[in-house]
Amino acid sequence: MAEKLTEIFGADVFNEATMTERLPKKVFAALKKTIKNGEELDPEIADIVANAMKDWAIERGATHYTHWFQPMTGITAEKHDSFINPTSDGKIILEFSGKELIKGEPDASSFPSGGLRATFEARGYTAWDCTSPAFLREDAAGVTLCIPTAFCSYTGEALDKKTPLLRSMEAISDQAVRILKLFGHDEVKSVSCSVGPEQEYFIIDKAKYLKREDLIFTGRTLFGAQPPKGQEMEDHYFGSLKERIASFMKEVNEECWKLGILAKTQHNEVAPAQHELAPIYSTANIATDHNQLVMEIMKKVANRHGLVCLLHEKPFAGVNGSGKHDNWSIVTDTGKNLLDPGKTPHENIQFLLVLTAVIKAVDENADLLRLSASNAGNDHRLGANEAPPAIISIFLGEQLEDVVKQLVETGDAKSSKQGGKLNIGVHTLPELKKDATDRNRTSPFAFTGNKFEFRMVGSSMSIAGPNTTLNTIVADALCEFADELEGAEDFDIAVHDLIKKTLTEHQRIIFNGNGYSDEWVEEAERRGLPNLRSLVEAIPAMTSERAIKIFSKFNVLSEVELHSRAEIEFEAYSKTINIEAKTMIEMANKLFIPAAIKYASGLAGSINTIKAAVPSVDVSVQEGLLKETSSLLATAKASLDKLQAAVAEAAEKEGQEQAVFFKKSVFPIMDELRKPIDALELIVDKEIWPVPTYGDLLFEV
Ligand code: ADP
Ligand code: MG
Repeated sequence: MAEKLTEIFGADVFNEATMTERLPKKVFAALKKTIKNGEELDPEIADIVANAMKDWAIERGATHYTHWFQPMTGITAEKHDSFINPTSDGKIILEFSGKELIKGEPDASSFPSGGLRATFEARGYTAWDCTSPAFLREDAAGVTLCIPTAFCSYTGEALDKKTPLLRSMEAISDQAVRILKLFGHDEVKSVSCSVGPEQEYFIIDKAKYLKREDLIFTGRTLFGAQPPKGQEMEDHYFGSLKERIASFMKEVNEECWKLGILAKTQHNEVAPAQHELAPIYSTANIATDHNQLVMEIMKKVANRHGLVCLLHEKPFAGVNGSGKHDNWSIVTDTGKNLLDPGKTPHENIQFLLVLTAVIKAVDENADLLRLSASNAGNDHRLGANEAPPAIISIFLGEQLEDVVKQLVETGDAKSSKQGGKLNIGVHTLPELKKDATDRNRTSPFAFTGNKFEFRMVGSSMSIAGPNTTLNTIVADALCEFADELEGAEDFDIAVHDLIKKTLTEHQRIIFNGNGYSDEWVEEAERRGLPNLRSLVEAIPAMTSERAIKIFSKFNVLSEVELHSRAEIEFEAYSKTINIEAKTMIEMANKLFIPAAIKYASGLAGSINTIKAAVPSVDVSVQEGLLKETSSLLATAKASLDKLQAAVAEAAEKEGQEQAVFFKKSVFPIMDELRKPIDALELIVDKEIWPVPTYGDLLFEV
């Protein structure tokens, strides 16, 4: 396997190695220039590249190509065209032109646009993103050449997640280069953001999945009593892999490697049936494309193994949900990580300035960052004592916190705490170097050595949004710094004062304690940090004056685009809850209530039969159960009626008002309906209960 791995890695990618092999030197150089500096590509060059791509793809069995894009649904979309072109003699030739490579015209009318485009103006364009390599994908439809593209409307507004991400990468690059110049680093021409997303997911048995409409329609269980065993034994976390899971992971890895995805780490997660996959980090844009592919691959491969991969943030109540840790750093084109503190961070002024910019950015835009990690599913996690709290704060660790404290208190940092050696107490074990700081699992935004780890992101979400926000807000802070420092008379003094002043202003966002505690919620309120408890409460941040100012300042998103995105978010939330509520209504009506009635009738029959046979026999157990069942049935039916009425009322509303109504008036009734049904599950005969239970789903994979 070891030798083979190096061979299969990237085999299905039109990467640099392949381009070097297949493109004339001049063409390759021109393309690289475009990739690196964003220069426009000559149409003739595009023709040559397209032709080489086509030949390469066809040799590998491809019959079709597609512009692969990432609309606002958060998943990817594609429309396939074959390479065929008719000839006059009734045959075909296989063609792919530069024009077809560069531009596509999918009908845009069925993708969310948030009012950007009326349905009669259905025209949308996809444009080749040459910074992310084309790749091949094989499925039942054959082999397809996939070209990563951005997706925009006829009038040029972004209709996707990639466009703003690319724009934000340019923004942070421009501003970081300005700062680096001030430190004498004229050699740096650009910086890019490195991102490594750790992907959590659940794997369950497909046959059982197919018996649950809630999982099929919504990706999560809407009913389900707690099993006798949950995750309290902590025996699953990092445990050895079950064979079925191991063979699933093996195949996922192979598929990833073929696509040049650096799948690196895999292990069992905290909850039963929960796992994680982490790749080695790459440029934000490519990391985003790869993460979309990883999610697709996991679903596809699971299916082949008779399994189902659940990417929902909270598939099961009462056990941990899934997130995606977005590890983020800033790296120069000369290979320097701007978030690397070195051994003595107190002396590393450039690092301290960049760190200060991140702290300022996060404090000033905590609401935007929170929003960027929000969706309906993540509402079940954030602030629920198993995932980061909904309040944004930064964990710096002991060493940097100490440096910041020195800077704020005395204006000077004279030392950096060091980690020392770790004594395990066994002579035969090697002496380990200790990090200068322990970890903090409860922080939503943690400094972890040479990167920040944004831990709020939901498992099913595209990481484009969070990284777009992160890049833009940090670009804004760096821009302010550069504006101030470029005019300074004495740079050293100015930088020193700026760091001290900014850290003093924004130190309230730094919190190294327990983010799950109630005291923190109170403390955060005292500090004036926003506590946005749900997605619906967070969405308005997107159209705030501040958001419009900074997103449009760097041309990441215009005011119009922001408004359309807010509209899409409200709509997506309403649709999600509407489907969940309707699924609950259907399951309660058709499955659970009939099952409970059947059980109750059985009890009643038993009571009658026994009493008729021997009137003196004690049937109090059956009578008790019958009463309890009937009472729960009555409660369930009342909630069901209430839920039906609320859903009908919601249908009359629209936009933000509708989303708020779903959150405030529909969502709580769903909980009301769930309670009596879950209680019934614990009483009713297993034979009669119509769906697999949590125990069946979580422990029998
Ligand atoms: P941890 O155990 O702290 O979560 P890992 O070393 O397992 O850290 O890395 C988690 C993820 O972070 C991986 O995807 C890894 O590639 C990524 N990562 C590591 N260093 C960086 C960096 N400098 N910038 C961005 N991502 C990084
Ligand atoms: Mg991590």
